[in-house]
Amino acid sequence: MLVEKTKNKIKCDSNGCNKIADYSIVNKKFVFDGSIYLCSSCLNELFSEISKFVVPKNVKPIYKRGGKSE
Ligand SMILES: [Zn+2]
Repeated sequence: MLVEKTKNKIKCDSNGCNKIADYSIVNKKFVFDGSIYLCSSCLNELFSEISKFVVPKNVKPIYKRGGKSE
């Protein structure tokens, strides 16, 4: 799975969004060899949904740093 910036002038694949896509999500594991095109606002929306379930591994959760303010 790859997320790339796209220079193709392709419409965002999100339903009801008429913006031009900035990013493409390429997944060659799918049966179809297709890409999903998303504009930056739809990508952000998607990311905030994903982050409900997936915490990036390279980011340390703030609450584990002994988060007491001094
Ligand atoms: Zn969009």
